[in-house]
Amino acid sequence: MTDLAERPAVRTAPDIRTPIPGPRALEHVAFDHRYTSPSLPRAYPIVPVRGSGCAIEDIDGNLFLDFTAGIAVSSTGYGHPRVTAAIERQARELIHFSASDFYLPIYAEFAAALSDIAPIDGPARSFIGNSGSEAIETAIKLARHATGRQYLVAFLGGFHGRTYGAVTLTASKAKYHAGFGPMLPGVFHVPYGSAGLDELEQRVFKRLVPATEVAAIVVEPIQGEGGYVVPDDEFLPRLRRICDQHGILLIADEVQSGAGRTGKMWAIEHLDVQPDILCLAKGIASGMPISAAVARADVMAAWQAGHHGSTFGGNPVSCAAGLATIEALRGGLIENAAARGEQALAGLRELAARHGELVDDVRGKGLMIGVQLTSGDTAEAVQWAAFQRGLLVLEAGDNVVRMSPPLVVTADEVDTAVRLFAEALDAVAEDPVRAHGLAHRWGMPDDQYVDG
Ligand code: PMP
Repeated sequence: MTDLAERPAVRTAPDIRTPIPGPRALEHVAFDHRYTSPSLPRAYPIVPVRGSGCAIEDIDGNLFLDFTAGIAVSSTGYGHPRVTAAIERQARELIHFSASDFYLPIYAEFAAALSDIAPIDGPARSFIGNSGSEAIETAIKLARHATGRQYLVAFLGGFHGRTYGAVTLTASKAKYHAGFGPMLPGVFHVPYGSAGLDELEQRVFKRLVPATEVAAIVVEPIQGEGGYVVPDDEFLPRLRRICDQHGILLIADEVQSGAGRTGKMWAIEHLDVQPDILCLAKGIASGMPISAAVARADVMAAWQAGHHGSTFGGNPVSCAAGLATIEALRGGLIENAAARGEQALAGLRELAARHGELVDDVRGKGLMIGVQLTSGDTAEAVQWAAFQRGLLVLEAGDNVVRMSPPLVVTADEVDTAVRLFAEALDAVAEDPVRAHGLAHRWGMPDDQYVDG
């Protein structure tokens, strides 16, 4: 399923040939720090130059097994033949023609494909943008416009992006709001899960704002950046009922959990719940920038020409990658995500049983897997130890290491990842002081490097 075999002289990941980070990586990091925004939350110094399948080669020629997929983006792996062919073909035909102002055929084709796969019965229409944040901004504007109401509800631990509306909804870490206030007015947060819905009904609707003035509730069906948190099974169905009862729109943010990652096209489908607006981005085009807010057609009908648009949104090359990605997802990758996810969870749960002193929880659905460690320091040390052994993973939440490999990952690659993760845990358990020291060598203070 990967094209690893098609490339000459490809090695099997991992293949680490220099100290990690290598000399050229170190040199590059110094160069980067002179010119790029210091706001960028670099997790650790992987300096990638090319990829194939689930393997990433760094600037020093080291080969890593990538269980981050560019933060849950490279769904079909690196260099998927169908996706790269679609990109090449479209780039030769037409690279840009603003779809907001004119009728770009592939834009509508992509929107039709989205309405086909959206977890919405009945007709749906799409506004196509460039990033997850832009999809969220679109959903906020549409929900206010369609309902004529102004208030919004979101959940603690949620991550929705960094533009002003999206960052206001975000409540996974206070640093995202630090020094940037005031946020968008009229946003309320409650805890994630069924207990939060008690609070929503008892406190917010009773004491703070009538439910009839709430435009939308925005939820990640599985929280991403907040720590790969799977809510209790009653949560989403009850949330749907609350929205129906009060005429509130339900916005599902599937930017991270969508596009087949959890073993279904959308995570919300595990609970048979339908949103009114679906936000997607990340994995839908295998790494080409594109996002969408897909809404029930009657909701989308509320706004008219000129109410919303985007110069680059629905770029034809991104749309071509999106269409090819959807074909690949439907051609077996979602089933693979479910099967490989089960395999990874089983392997990681065995490790957790062996390493009770380090691991508090292993959870997830499909290839959206979180390993909760006993502290943030431990998560950081494990992440670093994995990196040194050639396995790329990424922290999330306060103390979680997340795994979100490309959906083309093979059974052998999952076994290798579990083995490397076991070695990383062993190293941290054996000499925690050394492991923490290595991870801290970057001098990145806590809370400044986990993101997305
Ligand atoms: N929503 C969720 C659930 C996300 O995980 C992210 C990005 N990590 C976003 C929104 C924002 O996406 P972007 O960075 O593309 O703006």
